[in-house]
Amino acid sequence: MDLHSGAPFWLVRNGLGESHPVLARDEQCDIAIIGAGVTGALVADALTALGQDVVVIDRRDAGLGSTCASTALLQYEIDVELSPLITRVGAPAAVRAYQLGIEAIDEVERLVEAMGEGCGFARRESTYLASTRSDGKRLKSETALRQQHGFDVEFWDRDRVRDTYGFPAHGAIRSRQGAEVDALQFTTRLLEHSLARGARLYSRTTVVDYASHPDGVTLHTSRGHRVTAGRVVFAPGYESPPGVAEDLLALTSSFALVTEPVETFGPWTDRCLVWESARPYAYMRSTPDGRILIGGVDLPFRDATLRDVVLPMQTRKLEKRLHQLLPTVAAPVAFSWAGTFGQTADGLPYIGANPAFPHGLFALGYGGNGITFSVIAARIIRDLVSGTPNADAEIFRFNR
Ligand SMILES: Cc1cc2nc3c(=O)[nH]c(=O)nc-3n(C[C@H](O)[C@H](O)[C@H](O)COP(=O)(O)OP(=O)(O)OC[C@H]3O[C@@H](n4cnc5c(N)ncnc54)[C@H](O)[C@@H]3O)c2cc1C
Repeated sequence: MDLHSGAPFWLVRNGLGESHPVLARDEQCDIAIIGAGVTGALVADALTALGQDVVVIDRRDAGLGSTCASTALLQYEIDVELSPLITRVGAPAAVRAYQLGIEAIDEVERLVEAMGEGCGFARRESTYLASTRSDGKRLKSETALRQQHGFDVEFWDRDRVRDTYGFPAHGAIRSRQGAEVDALQFTTRLLEHSLARGARLYSRTTVVDYASHPDGVTLHTSRGHRVTAGRVVFAPGYESPPGVAEDLLALTSSFALVTEPVETFGPWTDRCLVWESARPYAYMRSTPDGRILIGGVDLPFRDATLRDVVLPMQTRKLEKRLHQLLPTVAAPVAFSWAGTFGQTADGLPYIGANPAFPHGLFALGYGGNGITFSVIAARIIRDLVSGTPNADAEIFRFNR
């Protein structure tokens, strides 16, 4: 699958990292991980911390799947608001899924600090704008519901939003817990730490077949060599094995741009995360080097050729949206890109065992919260491997 087009900012900023070898011999390990994006990196970190012998395999270079195209806002609020999520999955699961998002942001901060690396991590409050008058009413009730369940949120009316930022909106939910990160750097550093603990990482090697046997699995690769493991963790992003995610996902194309560094952010002084209730939504954050990043305006197809054709048009739409939000800020576009994007019907990830894949565990975190979902997945998979009970696993299981 062609996962991105254009110039993903984080790839330009970080460049190609360390080059890892291809798989040039047969390997044996406790756990093989397919995918060296942010999900595979988090899972590798969690499992090597347990003392597991881990091999990570990626068909690309590490981080060069969806991860380098991510705009990497970290929010506990998922694309499906709490009220409809409660209707879909029940209050305990919905509220817990939101709480887990908060814990995931804390975990990213802890990991970044423990590694002694910045990875562009910064705490930010989050402002969810009501795009229409009726959305304003709905977000007011949504705020009350979240407060009732203990979330630290406030409803801001349209005057408060305008007086604070000048954003045209019909009110907003203001959340305290949010953050931003450089997902590619975070992935690279996590993988380095796992390698230091004895993990092996093979890139430019595709897993082409999987066979299970009573003691584990054998993975056959495009290089002609095999990996024999007790278990395999599938962290392949949007490129799941056939029969796993096709029915669970609606794939789209999502677009983003980054401006040149700006002299001032105008009234957006706290550089909070901004997103909106319109669907498809646009969202905005800033970068550690003082640029504005705005993304969204998704289109309902994933054809890479067509995506390349429409990239300039979608970039202009994002530029226009940026001007509507911050009319006094001069911010010429520096980079723009597009990526394959997808979401599950209930907005939640799929994590854990799948009966069709004996000895396999899945970590499929999709949507606008893919990164926090990956953190949750790493934690659940760590517990499944160590045999520690984890009640949260039930929320994200297949066939839910
Ligand atoms: C434009 C855009 C904006 C986004 N914005 C946000 C955001 O603001 N916040 C957020 O939390 N999330 C966001 N996301 C989502 C988030 O980036 C993804 O959920 C996350 O990066 C997925 O990471 P991953 O490791 O699961 O997948 P990937 O990064 O795609 O990694 C999977 C890896 O598996 C490898 N692979 C697949 N199949 C095989 C195989 N058979 N053999 C070997 N290797 C294989 C691939 O090469 C790939 O490198 C965004 C995504 C996009 C595209």
